[in-house]
Amino acid sequence: MARFPVAIITGATRGIGRAIVQELSSHGVCCVMIGSSMESLQSLEMAPPHFKHSQQWHRAISIDLATWPRWTEMSGFPGFEITHVDGKVHQEPTLLSFHDYSFWRDKHNAQYDLKLLVNCAGVTQTTASIRTSTEKMQQLLNVNFMSAVSMCNMFSRRVIRTKKDLEGPAPCIVNISSILGQHQGPIVAGTSIYSASKAAILSYSKVLGVELAPLGIRVECICPGLVPGTDMIKQLDPDTQKKLQTNFELRQPITSSNIASRVWRIFNNDNQNSI
Ligand code: NDP
Repeated sequence: MARFPVAIITGATRGIGRAIVQELSSHGVCCVMIGSSMESLQSLEMAPPHFKHSQQWHRAISIDLATWPRWTEMSGFPGFEITHVDGKVHQEPTLLSFHDYSFWRDKHNAQYDLKLLVNCAGVTQTTASIRTSTEKMQQLLNVNFMSAVSMCNMFSRRVIRTKKDLEGPAPCIVNISSILGQHQGPIVAGTSIYSASKAAILSYSKVLGVELAPLGIRVECICPGLVPGTDMIKQLDPDTQKKLQTNFELRQPITSSNIASRVWRIFNNDNQNSI
């Protein structure tokens, strides 16, 4: 039976997450693309990921990560499956369940192995800490950190259950932090809670890597610098954008596709250059 890798990508509707989906799908990976709502998933309907082989499928799933921990207690998440048959893209409703074995495997006479999780969903901060509401603080931590931790746990449990017979590169988690979360990273006013959430995911990833190594699961964390032109940067007030640009002026510009190819290299254990 043919076997194909499956990746879960959060933040898949736009920006960096979207570029990661394009990269992975162009290599034949089946992508489970997570966005916050059915509405935001419509962008994936209009410009679907690549199809490299006839048994490749993609699934767009809606989970509002800001509702953590409520979303972790839900049994299923609505979405749609995209397939490519006879040169045409087809779409049908589907329901993601982390507990349903058949969601992940055995379709079209092939076996699908969950191999990669990319935690890329993120929200940014647009005010100084003193002017940030408790709702905004909760959203920042729920999306950027707590949901990523729950995703890592759900992914690891599923992989451990099926790992015995996996082929190819070892299962892998890639968390997207930020240069603002690095200990020696730039300090930009107006990003305090965002930067703290990114520092948290960076530290978490280091320890998680040690915990999961004996179980054969790799964990990597990428800390990109400013990626100009993404929605996240456009949402910032002009002053913060200017400060960020000044901070990053001397660094080589990074693009979403640079980060996407880095994720693909990590997945393939080709870990030469870092961002
Ligand atoms: P964008 O703002 O372009 O996209 C954010 C993504 O996160 C969207 O797919 C969005 O989904 C998803 N998301 C936001 N809130 C939720 C939620 N409540 N539930 C589910 N999904 C949600 O961001 P970027 O592509 O620029 O950034 C991606 C990641 O990279 C982030 O983690 C960011 O912190 C990090 N990063 C970005 C940098 C940059 O310069 N842009 C630099 C360094 C790191 P939806 O469309 O449904 O809202």
